[in-house]
Amino acid sequence: MAPAFPLVGNLAVQARLAQAADEDRLHHAYLFEGPDGVGKATFALWLARYVNCEGTRRPCGECRSCRLMLTGGHPDLVVIGPDPEKVTRVISVDQAHQLINAVQLQRHSAKRRFVILDPADALNEDAANSLLKTLEEPPRGTQFILVTARVASLLQTIRSRTQRVRFGPVPEAELTAFLGARGVSPEMARMAGGSLGQAMKLAEGEAEARTTLRDAILDATGQPLVKLFALTEAEGKREEGVNRAELVVDVLEELLRDAACVANDRDDRLLHPAKRAQLALWARALWPGGHARMALALASARDRLRLNVNGRTVLESLFAQLNLELSATR
Ligand SMILES: [Zn+2]
Repeated sequence: MAPAFPLVGNLAVQARLAQAADEDRLHHAYLFEGPDGVGKATFALWLARYVNCEGTRRPCGECRSCRLMLTGGHPDLVVIGPDPEKVTRVISVDQAHQLINAVQLQRHSAKRRFVILDPADALNEDAANSLLKTLEEPPRGTQFILVTARVASLLQTIRSRTQRVRFGPVPEAELTAFLGARGVSPEMARMAGGSLGQAMKLAEGEAEARTTLRDAILDATGQPLVKLFALTEAEGKREEGVNRAELVVDVLEELLRDAACVANDRDDRLLHPAKRAQLALWARALWPGGHARMALALASARDRLRLNVNGRTVLESLFAQLNLELSATR
C-alpha cells in the first residue's frame, strides 16, 4: 500500500477527475503518468475514496467505505504491485490471471470497484497481454488505474486501451510550504525536484544523510582513489545496501549538476552554494566532456541498481570513473 501522502500539487488534475466522477463519466481505465514521487498513487487512492464515500463531504474519511479504504481492508479496492514471489520487480502473469478472475466476481459493497496497478511498467509482456481484453472492457462497475513513471516501458497495446492523465512536478512553492510546516529548510524544496515523495524523505531525515555523504565525497575528491573506495565499503555495509547506493547516485548527480552550474556561471541555481569552491574544481576538471561521460555513467548505475546488481559493485565502478575524470584536479 502506498504511503498516505497528503495531496499536494496537481490540483487541476484532481478537479478534473472529481468532475468526471460527479458526472459519472470516468473512463474505465486511466493511465496516471508522471515523474516518481509526485503523488500519482495517492491520487488514485483518493479517487477510489471519493467515488465510494458514503458521507456528504467526499471523501469524508469517516464513513465505513473511507475507513476500510484507508486501512487497506476494502474488498473492492485492489492494489497490485510486483509479485512478492519473484526475485525481479515484476507483475506476473499469475497475478494477472488472479485479477481477471477476481473482477468477474460480484462487487462486495462499493459503488465502483477500483483496481490500481502500481507500477504498471512492472507488468511483464505475458501479464500485459492477458490483461488487454479486461482493460478494454472491464466488468461493469470496475475501474482500472495504471500508475507509471516510465510510460515508454508500457506496451503500446496497453497504452492505447487507457486514457492518459499526466501529472507534473509539484510546484516548488507548495513543496516549500509543505516542508516548512514540518520544520525543514526551504532550500530542501529545490532538492526535492518537484517530487513530494522526495520531499517526504528529506523531511524524514534523509537530508542529513545526504549532507554527510556529500561532504565525504567532496572531501575525497583529489585524494587517492582508496579514499573513495573506503566510502563505497561503508555504504555497501549498510543493511539496505541498494537504497544507500541509490542515495550515493542521487548525491553524485546533484554535485554534477552543481558543477555544471558553476561552469555556466549560474551560481544562482546551485543546490550546494556553500560548497562552491570544491565544485569549481569539479567544474574545471569535468566540463564539458567528463561531465557528459559521468552523466552516462550515473544513468547506467541507476539501471544496474534497478536490475539488482550489487550496490557496492556499482559504486566502485562509478567512483573509479569519477576518480579518472577528476584526476585533473590533483
Ligand atoms: Zn467517506
